[in-house]
Amino acid sequence: MAFDYDLFVIGGGSGGVRAARVAAATGAKVALAEEYRMGGTCVIRGCVPKKLMVFASGYSEMFDDARAYGWDVTEGSFDWPKFRGHLHKELDRLEGIYRKLLDGSGVAIFDARAALKDPHTVVLNDGREVSAKHILVATGGRPVMPDISGAELGITSNDIFNLDDMPRSILIIGGGYIASEFAGILNGLGVKVTQFYRGAQILRGFDGEARGLIAEGMREKGVDLHLGTNIVEMRAATDADMSDAMGTPMEGGKPATVASGGSGSGIWVKASNGIERVFDQVMFATGRAANTDGMGLEQAGVEVGRRGEIVVDEYSQTKVPSVYAIGDVTNRVQLTPVAIREGMAFVETVFKGNPTPVDHDLIPSAVFTQPEFGTIGLSEEDAREVEPVEIYCSSFKPMNHAFAGRSDRVMMKLVVSKATRKVLGCHIVADHAGEMIQLAGIAVKMGATKEDFDRTVAVHPTVAEELVTMKEPVRTA
Ligand code: FAD
Repeated sequence: MAFDYDLFVIGGGSGGVRAARVAAATGAKVALAEEYRMGGTCVIRGCVPKKLMVFASGYSEMFDDARAYGWDVTEGSFDWPKFRGHLHKELDRLEGIYRKLLDGSGVAIFDARAALKDPHTVVLNDGREVSAKHILVATGGRPVMPDISGAELGITSNDIFNLDDMPRSILIIGGGYIASEFAGILNGLGVKVTQFYRGAQILRGFDGEARGLIAEGMREKGVDLHLGTNIVEMRAATDADMSDAMGTPMEGGKPATVASGGSGSGIWVKASNGIERVFDQVMFATGRAANTDGMGLEQAGVEVGRRGEIVVDEYSQTKVPSVYAIGDVTNRVQLTPVAIREGMAFVETVFKGNPTPVDHDLIPSAVFTQPEFGTIGLSEEDAREVEPVEIYCSSFKPMNHAFAGRSDRVMMKLVVSKATRKVLGCHIVADHAGEMIQLAGIAVKMGATKEDFDRTVAVHPTVAEELVTMKEPVRTA
């Protein structure tokens, strides 16, 4: 049977764009449908705009630092509309690059929503039908709002980059990396940030000591973090709520409750710990769901899991042999470089005749909280469950912050197998921890032992030198 295309990719995000380009480079006839903006979550409303906001927010502490280092600077104020304009120009530029790359690779672009009609046919929302030998679903995910009354008054990470005004106060609900990163960003931009997380500590799943230090650092910088706390009720604030809020005593130099300017424009919230407050904005970062609704997947025979994710094997193939899925929609590891690798492994398998499973083991990653976190491998808690380990850990004030009179501490930690001496986990809380873990990650991925780390001469004076100078374990477990 003759198909219109060898490959039809649904979704122009990190995974879809890479797979389409690399497949086209093999000589395959490829098409891609994107319903919103080319570049997907990472470029338009994820990694890229978020990191630019991390950079923007970091300047607030630098005025004090600069003065400590002898500079005569006066504090300015943050101009959100100016930054937002610049940000969106940059995102437009990046989107243009993605589109050009696809065009240049000979990929046919459909600016439309697509769904499956059958294992070889895609239907576009303008009614067109296109056939393909292979279909790759790379539709990513979206934030989900909790099912509580009044939730529609809140926003998600999707909305944060488009706000008309910076709120004076915000309540962020959630304890994952997105919630915690935005708590730091907005706090740095001068917003009074309160964060509620229903669990006992933020950043579930990561190393316990690192989580503790990050939470402490966030609090020291001004985030009002409440653990074991959830929202039980929310509604538009009334005039009475607003006047109550205005009368609330000051806490740490900022009003403990900040009402928004106009009557009725704030959001009144009641928490499980009894706190009642009015916030300018409430942001939910309580989880993400795979974009599989209304995609015709089940009808085409594709298995969808309990959380809406597409079920695939190690080659990203679904139960339907012609249909593959990669990236966040499969809910394996939700990171851009992983979606890209899955896309490339798919092309290797299907278009280059070289079956390539995706290696999801020992993936380094960064959390751009303030303080920043870089991590690879097993946390101390997880490693202990597997085998006896030695823990090497050092926490100190780095010289740049000590000189500036800041209280920020860094932490360098290695989790080492007692039996093999291999470094099973490396966890860094420090400025530029993301950059450091990319490099330390190579050693860990190669199976380096603690002695390999020790054989490496320190780079002095740096924070990272601590990784090769920790002589004695702080404990065994
Ligand atoms: P996506 O990039 O989400 O792309 C899917 C695309 O499919 C979207 O453009 C969507 O519009 C389109 N689409 C959906 N349904 C259809 C349809 N039916 N028809 C046509 N098109 C459709 N990862 C990191 O590695 N580092 C980070 O620092 C980081 N920060 C993040 C911060 C935030 C706030 C968020 C939300 C995510 C972050 N991520 C980060 C995760 C990263 O963005 C995702 O893992 C990555 O974008 C997944 O790529 P993908 O190709 O699977 O999906």
